[in-house]
Amino acid sequence: MLSEPLAILRQVYGYRAFRPGQAAVVDAVLAGQDCLVLMPTGGGKSLCYQIPAQALPGVGVVVSPLIALMQDQVAALRQAGVRAAFLNSTVPWREQQAIKRELAAEGLDLLYLAPERLLQEETLALLAGVRLALFAIDEAHCVSQWGHDFRQDYLGLDVLGERFPSVPRLALTATADERTRQEIVARLALKRPARFVSGFDRPNIRYAVQIKTRNANEQLARFLDAHRGQAGIVYCLSRKKTEAVAERLRQAGYRALAYHAGLPAAQRADAQARFLREEGVVIVATVAFGLGIDKPDVRFVAHVDLPKSVEAYYQETGRAGRDGAPAQAWMIYGLQDVVRLRQMVDESVADEQHKRIERSKLDALLGWCEITTCRRQALLRYFGDDLPRPCGNCDICLTPPRTWDGTVAAQKLLSCIVRTGSRFGAAHVIDVLRGQRTDKVRQHRHAGLSTFGIGADLSVAEWRSVLRQLAAGGFVDADAARFGALRLTAAARPLLRSETTLTLRQEAAPAKPAAGRRQRPDGEVAAADEPLWQALRACRLQLAEDAAVPPYVVFHDATLREFARLRPASLDAMLQVHGVGQAKLERYGRAFLEVLTEHARS
Ligand code: ADP
Ligand code: ZN
Repeated sequence: MLSEPLAILRQVYGYRAFRPGQAAVVDAVLAGQDCLVLMPTGGGKSLCYQIPAQALPGVGVVVSPLIALMQDQVAALRQAGVRAAFLNSTVPWREQQAIKRELAAEGLDLLYLAPERLLQEETLALLAGVRLALFAIDEAHCVSQWGHDFRQDYLGLDVLGERFPSVPRLALTATADERTRQEIVARLALKRPARFVSGFDRPNIRYAVQIKTRNANEQLARFLDAHRGQAGIVYCLSRKKTEAVAERLRQAGYRALAYHAGLPAAQRADAQARFLREEGVVIVATVAFGLGIDKPDVRFVAHVDLPKSVEAYYQETGRAGRDGAPAQAWMIYGLQDVVRLRQMVDESVADEQHKRIERSKLDALLGWCEITTCRRQALLRYFGDDLPRPCGNCDICLTPPRTWDGTVAAQKLLSCIVRTGSRFGAAHVIDVLRGQRTDKVRQHRHAGLSTFGIGADLSVAEWRSVLRQLAAGGFVDADAARFGALRLTAAARPLLRSETTLTLRQEAAPAKPAAGRRQRPDGEVAAADEPLWQALRACRLQLAEDAAVPPYVVFHDATLREFARLRPASLDAMLQVHGVGQAKLERYGRAFLEVLTEHARS
């Protein structure tokens, strides 16, 4: 062995300790075992193979499906002084020859390859001629034909076990379910793999859900205002909306870019590159954006439309806060979303069984939106994990909603839907309940109904809230064939007959953020350190531009934050700071030290 894993962790990466889970994987690989590693996004999968690859003699071969990702990972490794390279179609021929020579001379610790490249006979022959430390198969769920990220080439990777039987293989993924796990082991033909399943909790992400008001734009603006200068993603359902929202945000002074599958490839690539390279870029996207975006300092993920399922929500919000610093998962939703998504399922061409699955997934998500207990506990329960105590870092934990017995109100509303013939949408039903003599009420003679005016005690907003919760709870449904007319489901009967009761949450007025109380990733940077923090960031941006790498490849926010707090006065002192390894110290230490010295005097 060249060096101890812990020594590598400290010298190369500048981290103090392995995270839970990492050390066990490293040990298993060093012992020559195949491994299946399941870790949430941001959990630290890369170190599980990068460190053994440096500790063991020979080169570690990493299979990764995404070329852009490969480039960034290799750039980051080189910055840290690791001998790493990638081979793919974008690398000029001459450079490819140089990499092959380095490989033959055992001058590489890590070689990144796309699967199709690895499977070429020429590559396999090349690898047969050199010492190999391990194979790491990243995004291993791509072998699953049922998953949404299926890649044909991954199916050929079982050849590695045949051709290189003594080289340990690791399959890594953030995809949770058991069926996919079994498929990975079977299709990659892993040999009695050690399984490592980390908890799926992302404690640094704060979950919050708000009810969409009439002015959703204003709600988004208010949320973003607390996050100016930060990188984030805003998810929308439609392509058109991504462009409209991006335009509005640009006018409000944000560096916002739209992203969806309908844009020209060059424009999409440009948006992605700017998101990675520049600071504070906001991407307004459909779900087409995100896979393989390995940016550690995404500070927020906002949903202005409902995602399709809890799984989709968790995957999308999981892109925030990979660096472990505070991050926000913020969502607004309303009755319209519920109705629209249900209709989309109803009208889709899928077969009935498929629709049933889609509906139950949507219901699970709606149930989660309306929950009145800790959101994180519920999320983790959904994925089979158990969090013993409420998290203290979700909207419910921070400001517990008040609840009320909504049984009678629900009965009034359900009856009113029935009495008006299950032919009308929310607005009219609520008018009837509240006893409004509108034209429509007159036209349909609804003032004579027994339910006319029985709900004058609640406001329109309160009735909308009741209705939304009834829809989310599956008591009411919108008829797609009749312009979204409300109708009762079978679940409404016991409620109407008072056989069950219903607890509803009371809507709080949307809170105005207190002035000056901005939550920043650099939340711990004291006001007095603010000028220094800004100067450190400017220094980082300059160094990143010079090296043509994203700023976070130079140093993460967490490292700059410690610089601002600890104010190291020498290179030696800097080495003690989180994220400062030997190579980066040599490369960047001096520049940051100058900034620190300048600010020490003033
Ligand atoms: P994943 O691939 O599982 O999404 P990464 O391997 O990209 O996650 O790691 C996420 C972030 O956590 C990276 O910025 C990485 O540098 C950091 N990290 C990983 N392991 C540690 C550790 N032991 N100590 C501190 N930071 C770590
Ligand atoms: Zn909570």
